[in-house]
Amino acid sequence: MGRLKGLTPRLGSLRPRLAPAPHDRQQYDRRRDEQPWRQWYKTARWQRLRWAILQRDLFTCQRCHRLEGETSKLVADHRRAHRGDEALFWDEGNLWTLCKPCHDGWKQRQEARER
Ligand SMILES: [Zn+2]
Repeated sequence: MGRLKGLTPRLGSLRPRLAPAPHDRQQYDRRRDEQPWRQWYKTARWQRLRWAILQRDLFTCQRCHRLEGETSKLVADHRRAHRGDEALFWDEGNLWTLCKPCHDGWKQRQEARER
């Protein structure tokens, strides 16, 4: 068996694990909460932008087309995850209205896949 040399594992080609395993989810959420862009959601500028998006979309979920009169159940959602990119975060063209069930279900699943 003189061929084992070729089977030496190439450690350098192993990719670092980028996505947290499901059981790391809580830790991931905590880290996420510490991101500086979380603060952007607390600004008056964001409140205004969010309201502008809800009005533009006529308080209607852009996915299931539910008209939601209770605005606390609507989310101005980033179509493309901004991941801290300021331009994407404030881009009206990157925002749409989702109802909470759509946002919390479908959208989160999609983001989990991208991660
Ligand atoms: Zn919906």
